[in-house]
Amino acid sequence: MSKNKSECIQVVIRCRPLSKKERENGNEKVVQMYSREDKGEIMVGREGDEEPPKQFTFDKVFDEAIGQEQLFEESSRAIVGNVLEGYNGTIFAYGQTGTGKTHTMEGEQKPKEMRGVMSRCFEAVFNCIDAHKDAQFLVRASYLEIYKENIRDLLSPNPKNKLIMHEKPDSGVYVKDLSSFICKNYQEMQAVQNTGRKNKSMGETKMNARSSRSHSVFTLTLECSELGPDGKDHIRVGKLNMVDLAGSERQSKTDASGQRLEEAIKINLSLTCLCQVISALTDTKSSYVPYRDSQLTRLLQDSLGGNTKTVMIANIGPADYNTDETINTLRWASRAK
Ligand code: ADP
Ligand code: MG
Repeated sequence: MSKNKSECIQVVIRCRPLSKKERENGNEKVVQMYSREDKGEIMVGREGDEEPPKQFTFDKVFDEAIGQEQLFEESSRAIVGNVLEGYNGTIFAYGQTGTGKTHTMEGEQKPKEMRGVMSRCFEAVFNCIDAHKDAQFLVRASYLEIYKENIRDLLSPNPKNKLIMHEKPDSGVYVKDLSSFICKNYQEMQAVQNTGRKNKSMGETKMNARSSRSHSVFTLTLECSELGPDGKDHIRVGKLNMVDLAGSERQSKTDASGQRLEEAIKINLSLTCLCQVISALTDTKSSYVPYRDSQLTRLLQDSLGGNTKTVMIANIGPADYNTDETINTLRWASRAK
């Protein structure tokens, strides 16, 4: 594996199509993407607007023409291979609410083409297991949510209970009492994801869609036991985290008070911290990585940096009225790079 830190972190951008409502409202598309060589470029804004168009460069850019399968192949397939080799990896979906984070990570189960990154990772893992008859595998799944820096188990019969993170000198950070399910095949793992998805939206109202203000983390742990050339069993463990982040939009100051303000402050802090951790990992001069500053980065500490691989999929919308948020997302993603 490459020792180059920045090669271990890929930042890609996905822009969704204009929605029906946006088209009906006459909103214009202000995002242009160009793929060239091994880079992708984005231009946001219109010539003649008060602010000149802004340009950004990322590892890859995907416009509305990209489907779920191709997005998985081009952004996330490689990381699954690493996990099977015993390395940890994390796939993040970042962006303003309504830009396609959940579409990217979960998608729809039917039709099959609409399946998101998570289902496709499950499928890739079990296909690979089926092809390795000479090794033994154990696959486990857990699914949690971080809301206002509190952790809840999305697979627990009591998903409202708050869980606590602990640290052991030998095994590192873990969440006490977090459920973990052994899955023997794709269907079992998909059923686990569906259970968590139901708990995620529990008690949500339209006005107060909590899932857009919480981070959800699905962790697939893969243990492989294989007979080595020395005649002994060798065990390797890889972990893949799939994270649907809280919406990155700025809360308007007038509208946010009490609960909403507290939420906004905590979301902001954890997304800022994530950006700082990723940028410290890509900066060869930086030796301090502030993992401990948020629950999310503490939890993912062993899956960010070192020998691990990270993919950040930053989602944006194409419409003119979102220009400011779109630029904020691209700035955040550039800093993470
Ligand atoms: P988020 O999770 O970021 O809030 P969603 O994934 O819920 O956003 O997407 C918002 C809406 O846009 C959904 O109706 C979703 O189906 C649609 N959507 C998002 N991305 C795409 C895409 N690439 N192509 C088609 N529809 C999309
Ligand atoms: Mg969502």
